[in-house]
Amino acid sequence: MPDVQLTKGLHEACGVFGIYGHPHAGELVYYGLHALQHRGQESAGIVAVDQGRFTTHKGMGLVTDVFRNGDAFDLSGESAVGHVMYANGSPTITEVQPLVFKYRAGTIALAHNGALVNAAQIRRSLELQGSIFQTNSDIEVIAHLIARSPHDDLVSALRHALGVIEGSYALLVLAENKLIACLDPQGLRPLALGKVGGSYCFASETCAFDLIEAEYIRHVEPGEMVVIGQDQLRSLKIGEPSPAFCSFEYIYFARPDSNLTSNTSVHQIRRKLGKQLAAESPVEADLVLGVPDSSLSAAIGYAEALSIPFEMGLVKNRYVGRTFIQGKQESRTRDVKLKLSVVRKVVEGKTVVMVDDSLIRGTTSRRIVRLLRDAGVKAVHVRISSPPVAHPCFYGIDISSHDELIVTHKSVAEIQSYIGADSLEFLTIDGLVRAIRGTNDNHGLCLACFNGKYPTTIDFQTEEAQNE
Ligand code: AMP
Ligand code: SF4
Repeated sequence: MPDVQLTKGLHEACGVFGIYGHPHAGELVYYGLHALQHRGQESAGIVAVDQGRFTTHKGMGLVTDVFRNGDAFDLSGESAVGHVMYANGSPTITEVQPLVFKYRAGTIALAHNGALVNAAQIRRSLELQGSIFQTNSDIEVIAHLIARSPHDDLVSALRHALGVIEGSYALLVLAENKLIACLDPQGLRPLALGKVGGSYCFASETCAFDLIEAEYIRHVEPGEMVVIGQDQLRSLKIGEPSPAFCSFEYIYFARPDSNLTSNTSVHQIRRKLGKQLAAESPVEADLVLGVPDSSLSAAIGYAEALSIPFEMGLVKNRYVGRTFIQGKQESRTRDVKLKLSVVRKVVEGKTVVMVDDSLIRGTTSRRIVRLLRDAGVKAVHVRISSPPVAHPCFYGIDISSHDELIVTHKSVAEIQSYIGADSLEFLTIDGLVRAIRGTNDNHGLCLACFNGKYPTTIDFQTEEAQNE
C-alpha cells in the first residue's frame, strides 16, 4: 500500500428500513428508524408511495426531532423506505435520504447504507459528459447510472448500474410497484429480510424487526438483489459473491440485541471478545468497568472470564446528543463529564480494569482515565476489545485518515503513557477472528482497518485527492 495520508469524503454508515404492501407502511418505517437510530443521528427521512405518488418527510436531527406530531403516520401509501444518516462531513438537507429521482421510466426513491469507493471517478466521468449533480451523495451517482442505462425496466437498469459501482452498499430502491434491496458482493454492511402481517420488509439490523414485531426471515446475501413485487419475492445475483463482512459492526456499530449474519446476537459476540481479551491479557484487579454502552458486553465477558466483579462504575447521560452547544469557556473535562460520570463510591481506592471497544485517536480513553483518577482509583488498566485501528475505512465507518490514528504516531507503550493508564492491551487480530467466528478462519470478514487488506480495489490517489 502506498505511504499516503488518507482521509474520507462524505461517507456514510447509516440505517435503512423499507416495507412493501402494508396499510401502515409509513408508521412501521418510523418505528423501524427509531430502532436504527444508533446507526445515524445526523438526519432522518421517509418516502412513501401511494399509487405512483411519492411523498417525502425528512429533516436534520434525530427521528423524534424530524417526525413530530405524527408526521410519519400521515404519509399515505402502502410502501415506504426510510433512512437515518451518520455522516462524516457536513450533510445538507438536499443530501438527506431517501432521495427521490424522476427519470424516463418513472420515479424511484433510494436509501443507502455504505460508501462507494469509485463514486468520485464515475461522477467525474459523468460530469465530463454533461451530467449535473445536486448533492455529494453516492446515491445520486447510482441514480444517474440507472437513468443512463440502456434498459427500460428498473431491475435491469439497476443491475446495469450496480455492475459499474464498487464499495459497500446496502441499498433500498422503492418504485411504484416494487421494493428492491441490493447488497454489494462483499456484503460489507448488514441487511436483513423480514415479514410483518404478510408484508416483506428490510432493515439494516434485526433489532428493527423486534420493535415492529416482524418475523426475521434471513439476511440478504452478498451480491444479491431481492425484488419484492405483487405477492412475490425474487432473488437475483448481481455480482460474484466475495464475502467480507465488516468486523467493526460486531465491535462497535451494531446494537447488542441485533443478529448480524448468523443467529448469534451482537451482545454474545462482544462477550466473547471480552473473554478472548481476558485470555490474552489478564490482570489482577478489584473491578471491571465498561464504557457505556457499546463496551458493556465485552466488559461483562472480560469480568466473567477472570472471575472479577463487573461493576457499574461509569454512567452515561442519555440526554446529551452527539452535539451540544459549547459554552464560551472550553473545557474538555466538562465535555466528557456531560456525557459520562463516575460512580465515585464504586471506584475509590480500587484497582480497576476499564474495557473499551476501540481506541482510535485515544481521546475517549484518555478522558475517562482522567475522570477515574479524579475519582480516586488506585490503578486503572485499560483493555481494548479490538485490535489497534491502523488504517482508514473507505466503506462507510468514520475511521479517518492515517494521520488521525494514534497508532500512526505512537507505540502501544507511548499510547499507554498518553492516556495515563497503568497498563494498556489490545485484542489481537487472531483473537478477534476467533471470537467472531469460533475458528481461526478469517474468510468472509473485513479486517482492513486493522490489517490494511482492503476487500475491494481502492484508488488511494483519488481518495486522497478527493479529500484535500
Ligand atoms: P477515540 O476516542 O478516537 O479513541 O475513539 C474510540 C471511542 O469511540 C470508543 O469509545 C468507541 O466506543 C467510539 N467509537 C468507535 N467507533 C466509532 C465511530 N465509528 N463513531 C463514533 N464513535 C466511535
Ligand atoms: Fe469495517 Fe474496518 Fe472493513 Fe471499514 S475497514 S468495513 S470499519 S472492518
